[in-house]
Amino acid sequence: MKCPKCEKGELMEVNDVINSLDGVVFIAKGKRCGLCSEEFIGEEEGNRMIQQARKLGVWGTQLKLHRKLSKSARGTVLRIPSDIERELKLKGTEEVLISKVGDNKLLIEIE
Ligand SMILES: [Zn+2]
Repeated sequence: MKCPKCEKGELMEVNDVINSLDGVVFIAKGKRCGLCSEEFIGEEEGNRMIQQARKLGVWGTQLKLHRKLSKSARGTVLRIPSDIERELKLKGTEEVLISKVGDNKLLIEIE
């Protein structure tokens, strides 16, 4: 099968296509172009990924945790729950991006 992107490369079956779905990283089966390295996953595999995400409860449900902010001399402090810390493998030294989303939401991204 020829690659639809570069139209020259041959697609190879691979099982390590990395996909990110709603912030969750999945490794799926798919095809990769031997020439331009473009990756493709089939519809079936895409659906399987969504189902897996649903099972994990990360798709369609939002993780909401109540945490109290605390005050320190240098400003307001938000403690990251240890389960999230583990999940994101945080060392506590990462840089984060905090953006304001709407009037009462903050989005924290780990760089
Ligand atoms: Zn290609």
